[in-house]
Amino acid sequence: MELKDKIAVVTGGSRGIGAAITRKLASLGANVAVIYAAGQEAAEAVCQDCREQYSVKAAAYGCDVADFAAVKQLAADIKKEFGTVHILVNNAGVTRDGLAMVMSEASYDAVLDTNLKGAFNMIRHFSPMMLRSREGRIINISSVSGLMGNPGQANYAASKAGLIGLTKSIAKELASKNVTCNAIAPGFIETAMTKDVSDKEAAIAAAIPLGRMGRPEEVADAAAFLIASDYITGTVLRVDGGIAM
Ligand code: NDP
Repeated sequence: MELKDKIAVVTGGSRGIGAAITRKLASLGANVAVIYAAGQEAAEAVCQDCREQYSVKAAAYGCDVADFAAVKQLAADIKKEFGTVHILVNNAGVTRDGLAMVMSEASYDAVLDTNLKGAFNMIRHFSPMMLRSREGRIINISSVSGLMGNPGQANYAASKAGLIGLTKSIAKELASKNVTCNAIAPGFIETAMTKDVSDKEAAIAAAIPLGRMGRPEEVADAAAFLIASDYITGTVLRVDGGIAM
């Protein structure tokens, strides 16, 4: 897919990996809608950068992706403002780490609701536009935790493994309409989500064959590659320095 003048929606595009993906898609000429939960200022700043640096259309929308009705309204609002959406990146994600035997129901539900149901909600309300135009790209940001499991992250790993099943099912459902759906499984990437583990950075780097944490821009490059690819669907692309091989 040629990205120039396409419409891309990136959830959690206000910071971290989502902001890097938004900037990358804008740099390739896509118009971008940035979805945030609470960080309006950060989301507006990303949009302003995209407009100034790349001369594309960019707008920020506050929406809890876990809220089915709110996402339905979001899809209508974005369609009205931008037109038909071609690219959806389900990147919004949260962690509520803790051992399963003491994990609260609220912590489990919050992570599944945002990370997994959120992606479903977005696909549910945005994919009809792609089907009608017979052109679309969906990227779900999973995690190596979903491939390998991780102690203290039963909720998070379950949500990220679930995203892989969701990705493959949607890929099969939408392939005949020229809509691809792929997942990216990042390893340890330097963002706010991993700031608490930075004191363990040396230990983490030692466990990563390439010897360092990744950068958000390196995940964004993978997203751009999958979006540009016409003949890749249902795949899980690891961007992890080799940790999950
Ligand atoms: P950050 O914590 O830096 O950013 C999370 C983003 O998600 C923010 O933009 C946040 O919005 C948004 N968000 C959170 N909850 C909601 C919600 N309910 N509705 C809408 N938006 C929401 O995360 P990262 O950039 O580190 O991670 C991005 C994705 O990559 C996540 O899915 C994460 O699980 C995954 N990932 C990250 C890894 C890493 O090492 N960093 C490794 C593997 C996967 P706001 O700013 O408004 O709060």
